[in-house]
Amino acid sequence: MAEKKYVYSFKEGHAAHLGKDILGGKGMGLCEMTAAGVNIPAGFTITTEACTLYYDAGKMIPDYVWNDIVAHVHEVEKEDNKEFGGTGNPLLVSVRSGARQSMPGMMDTILNLGLNDITVAALAKVTGNERFAYDSYRRFILMFTNIAKGHPRTEMDKMLDDLKKSNGYKLDTQVTTEQLKGLVAKYKEFYKNIFHEDFPTDPYAQLKEAVSAVFRSWDNPRANVYRQMNGIPYEWGTAVNVQTMVFGNMGEDSGTGVAFSRNPSTGEKQIYAEFLPNAQGEDVVAGVRTPLHIDELQKRMPDVYRQFIETIKRMENYFHDMQDMEYTVEKGRLYFLQTRNGKRTARAALKIACDLVDEGLIDEREACLRVEPKQLNDLLHPTFDPIDEKKHTPVLKGLPASPGAGTGHLVFTAEEAKAEKDAGRKIVLCRAETSPEDIIGMVNAEAIITARGGMTSHAAVVARSMGKCCVAGCTEAIIDETKKTMIIGGKTYTEDDIVSVDGNTGEVFEGSINMVPADLGGDFGRMMEWADKYRRLKIRANCNTPTDAENAAKFGAEGIGLCRTERMFFAEDRILNMRSMILSDTTEQREAALERLRPYQVDDFYHMYMSCPDYLVCIRLLDPPLHEFLPDIHEDDKIEKIAETLKVSSQKVRDRINQLHQANPMMGFRGVRLCVAYPEIYRMQATAIIQAALKASKDLGHDVEPEIMIPLTGELKEFKYAKNVVIEAVEGEMKKENHVLKYHVGTMIEIPRGALQAGNIAKEAEFFSFGTNDLTQLTMGFSRDDAGQFLPYYYDKKIYEFDPFQTVDQEGVGELVKIAFQRGRATRPNLLVGVCGETGGDTASIEFYDKVGLDYVSCSPFRVPLARLAAAQANIIHEREKGKK
Ligand code: PEP
Ligand code: MG
Repeated sequence: MAEKKYVYSFKEGHAAHLGKDILGGKGMGLCEMTAAGVNIPAGFTITTEACTLYYDAGKMIPDYVWNDIVAHVHEVEKEDNKEFGGTGNPLLVSVRSGARQSMPGMMDTILNLGLNDITVAALAKVTGNERFAYDSYRRFILMFTNIAKGHPRTEMDKMLDDLKKSNGYKLDTQVTTEQLKGLVAKYKEFYKNIFHEDFPTDPYAQLKEAVSAVFRSWDNPRANVYRQMNGIPYEWGTAVNVQTMVFGNMGEDSGTGVAFSRNPSTGEKQIYAEFLPNAQGEDVVAGVRTPLHIDELQKRMPDVYRQFIETIKRMENYFHDMQDMEYTVEKGRLYFLQTRNGKRTARAALKIACDLVDEGLIDEREACLRVEPKQLNDLLHPTFDPIDEKKHTPVLKGLPASPGAGTGHLVFTAEEAKAEKDAGRKIVLCRAETSPEDIIGMVNAEAIITARGGMTSHAAVVARSMGKCCVAGCTEAIIDETKKTMIIGGKTYTEDDIVSVDGNTGEVFEGSINMVPADLGGDFGRMMEWADKYRRLKIRANCNTPTDAENAAKFGAEGIGLCRTERMFFAEDRILNMRSMILSDTTEQREAALERLRPYQVDDFYHMYMSCPDYLVCIRLLDPPLHEFLPDIHEDDKIEKIAETLKVSSQKVRDRINQLHQANPMMGFRGVRLCVAYPEIYRMQATAIIQAALKASKDLGHDVEPEIMIPLTGELKEFKYAKNVVIEAVEGEMKKENHVLKYHVGTMIEIPRGALQAGNIAKEAEFFSFGTNDLTQLTMGFSRDDAGQFLPYYYDKKIYEFDPFQTVDQEGVGELVKIAFQRGRATRPNLLVGVCGETGGDTASIEFYDKVGLDYVSCSPFRVPLARLAAAQANIIHEREKGKK
């Protein structure tokens, strides 16, 4: 038998201190409103735990929960002096979902429940309005059939439309009582034909079906998509709220509407509300009727209006946040049906948080918690002018891989992108998928569109690091780079076409849309100051170029956590020497080619130090498999060109490509393994790093402190080998220059063995940086380039709910992070530990890393503000938890 309570009256919920986790946001709001003395219709909440029970019991409401629900219906009957299914004054209820976090429009609601042939007559009598009673009944049968029984509403909607058409009516309100009665009979007959049973007349049977339907709606496709996009775990479940119906459609002294206590788009402190006289809420939601300005309520019912304004102000003062409320006026009496913290734009979120601090309603710490870190992305890039964007309709939708906005002519190759940009034209690079060589095209593009690839595809990662707008995985587009066409739904776009790409929404539009610039001062700047004051984690950035480093500094990064040196080799003049190095037959030839590359590297590193003079810069030695620097074996033209330029036979190029071919390149000849085979590569890079550091130290007038990072380490001896190569080069160089710099050699932890051997590796490594892209790939056995093909099936089946390359898999990969951190620190107490994989820029992952105790996270420059705020939130929450203990 149940020991626990699964149903709470709105009157008792507040005192029970259950919170949103159990009561859901709406249930909690209703309890709080009761406590704040707001007039709400009576009712109760069936908890989220009951939802879990429902699913555990094979989609059944256990008897003890049901008995409790029935007992609470009786309580409401008493309170309202009405009877559920009664013939005197019948009680009708609404049944609504209400998860922990609001998921607007994603789940189901049923209104007017409790009506049958008997109660409808009673309702007509008690309200003196037969038309209203039958209209409510009609609506209920429709909603019940559609939502509780899952049958589409199209045919029933058509019955009403046909009736209106045949009578020449424009509005629903023109339909007569007798016609509504006829429609009710038709709806019931329709129901019987579909389900082979009569429409349920017992209000309790109706209620049981409706509660089950709302529980089930937690698992409907749109709720699943919304949850996945917003990181809401499936296991949370939804609560259900059962509440006495009040009617806004009982005449001209009635009405309904929604109200925000502040403007949700701008954050302005002004009530933002609408009013729809003589209507039910669903008329507004369904867009059947257009609401009027709230002044209309003031004109028609000044007393109600005064009470309305007073209650909204009271609620905001009570909840200390902007509220989004639904209200109904029934025969001149004002009720609030629900309240929740209102959804708002990023700009509004900042303004409201800052204003609430100034008004003394919240403190700075609380303000930090009021802004969704991910939202900050919307503010960092120039964006489309929202008014102009509304005038366009999207022609394509993909993954919003990198935020921002861009407009330009379509181009289909990296070379063309560069040529067009050089000629002064704005372009959008359109590729089936991208390869490292496309970097030139990406640099020159306003935006990037790809047909294939997920959020960690090359295009997405690189675009984010550059702060370039990118929409990836546009599966509906057929992109043909040879024909230079993009076909969307039968329409062909060519280089003559201009498109506009919105990286925040993943939408692509025809034609150009006006832009507005980013503003990093004002409320944004204030929020960032607070975030810095309350966070513990340091935030660095992943930067491959001085421009990246400048952006990172602008966004408040405290150093560079990862400089991927391979990204520096793709420029035309450099890749040649890189290829020459790869095609070398002897160490001497290789060393000669590397020597030609060294000056470029010195120059690159020097500029990195100069653009980040006060912070640590962590440079990673060469990591990718060498075949990435050569063309594909089928790219004859490119092979011929390389052979000609390097004065070798094309067969030699082909042989080397074949030789370097690996079945599993990501687990192949890459990372520190390159050094074990060809130590001269790391020797050259270490030499270049220290030469650049010595030069920068001289020019800056103070010493820089290089961090040199070795990738893909799995074993102490392997690390030690590479470290010795580095140290020899560094020491030799410093001796030559007679200038000793402090420097550090450390490793990435990105293969599981490295994590398990961290205690040993820390004997030699001065710092660890978790490369969670590879660590996730190798721990989960998911290829980071291909996981997008199968992960959606896992999401559907709730096996894994989130992309582990974006949000760290705490139970698996996260365990390895903890183990490595603890073992590393046990060996070397001052070991510096950070994260530089993609998860370093993800809110939920940052919370985890803060809890584990890492020193810093490093992410792409444009994610730095997000990371600063997420780190503050994590620390504030963890401090509060500690305080509670
Ligand atoms: C990683 O593996 O997490 C990492 C940062 O390295 P890369 O993405 O360059 O492999
Ligand atoms: Mg890696």
